[in-house]
Amino acid sequence: QRADVAVTGLATMGRNLARNLARNGYRVAVHNRSAQRTDALVDEFGNEGTFLPAKSLDELVAALERPRRVIVMVQAGEPTDAVIDQLSSLLDTGDVIVDAGNAHYEDTRRRESRLREAGINFVGTGVSGGEEGALNGPSIMPGGSEEAYEALRPMFEKIAADVDGTPCCAYVGPDGAGHFVKMLHNGIEYADMQLIAESYDLLRQGLEMSPAEVGEVFTGWNNGDLESFLVEITAEVLGHVDTSTGQPFIDVVLDQAGQKGTGRWTVISALELGVPVSGMAEAVFARGLSSDIARREAARETLPGPSPLAAVEDRQQFVDDVRDALYASKLVAYAQGFDTIRAASDEYGWDVDLGQMATIWRGGCIIRARFLDRVREAYDRDPALPSLLVDDYFRQALADGQAGWRRVVSTAAQLGVPAPGFSSALAYYDGLRAPRLPAALIQGQRDLFGAHTYKRTDRPGTFHVDWSGDRTEQER
Ligand code: NDP
Repeated sequence: QRADVAVTGLATMGRNLARNLARNGYRVAVHNRSAQRTDALVDEFGNEGTFLPAKSLDELVAALERPRRVIVMVQAGEPTDAVIDQLSSLLDTGDVIVDAGNAHYEDTRRRESRLREAGINFVGTGVSGGEEGALNGPSIMPGGSEEAYEALRPMFEKIAADVDGTPCCAYVGPDGAGHFVKMLHNGIEYADMQLIAESYDLLRQGLEMSPAEVGEVFTGWNNGDLESFLVEITAEVLGHVDTSTGQPFIDVVLDQAGQKGTGRWTVISALELGVPVSGMAEAVFARGLSSDIARREAARETLPGPSPLAAVEDRQQFVDDVRDALYASKLVAYAQGFDTIRAASDEYGWDVDLGQMATIWRGGCIIRARFLDRVREAYDRDPALPSLLVDDYFRQALADGQAGWRRVVSTAAQLGVPAPGFSSALAYYDGLRAPRLPAALIQGQRDLFGAHTYKRTDRPGTFHVDWSGDRTEQER
């Protein structure tokens, strides 16, 4: 009997995805460049379902039912191109290649267009949730032709995470849409993690709480609006004690944050689309700063902090304020993230359903949170919402939380504790709601030094002042 689906690339993610498919009753042909991984999968987990091991891509393709469905789960970049090239020469019209790796959406657009010419359906699919998600149910974000996705839908919906009976999988849009949304998910994850880290830092430094005490605060927050996987694991990390020293684990970990680049990709893409994503950008910058050891060392002994050091007076008030600042700043970061998806959707004609994206992130992925139900409801109320922040529910949440948020930002400045996520989110919020911005002055400066022209508040047209002459205004 032939296989229903094939997986090539059996490292952490591919192996677990193949097991997830097999556990759900699919016959899975499996292949890896080096055969040891294929053998190890069949040896260790062969009893979980039906695996058909293949030694080569030819064998893999030959093992499949038509139309053939091949999931590629290899290293992103050139390896993915190499595997897709080999596969495309072995497949026929109507067959489907799924790239489930972390491809850049522009690569996916390029691959999709090339394969479409060859009659092969290409589905660039974001898969979130890491190792654990791939095995037990990830959030799946497929992009490509809708007909091709239909051939995969029952299978994908079955292996995806499930929240209240709804699978965390939905067609995102044509060509690179799935990988774009997966990238955005990672950018939002960066922002969310940074805001949580700032909350921890402020409670620790502002109130001199122990890591375990801060962990308990997070556990409490996990019962309210902030309930989320990231808040839950934060409490777990903060409560953990290092086995070799008996110290809080967090105190023996080097304070240099790593990154694989998806946060940076998100910010670059958003800048190209003209969307301000200060939350994600500050998160990427903060990770960069943390790893800039030479500069940090040079500054540590040299640059003065606030003096005298401010003290927080009302401890419980401060804890509540930090919670409000975290929720409000998180809202800003998500609003910016959804704005970016909308901008890309308009730019590339993807017609992405934003509420649907919130739905498929509710389970199986790192940013899963109760809050995403509220996001979905906001887009259900108004699919054309100009910003999540102006939705009634969120507007009220911001109104309720803003006093605490403002106190936290000013206390952070007085304590000398960096809170770039909180403060830039607040600046974005105030910028967005400002009746008038100093952008008028920038237009004046641009007109003076570069004759870049300006528009007037009182009548249409484009104008320039003869700054170096008699300063009369000319219409351009
Ligand atoms: P890796 O990204 O570490 O890639 C290793 C796999 O790629 C191995 O199967 C390897 O084969 C194969 N490979 C590398 N180069 C080639 C090549 N030139 N030709 C054929 N095969 C090649 O594996 P992961 O499982 O960590 O990730 C797979 C994909 O999923 C990546 O795109 C990753 O970005 C993405 N992803 C990963 C997540 C994670 O948490 N790890 C989460 C979500 C997505 P061999 O064994 O022969 O070396």
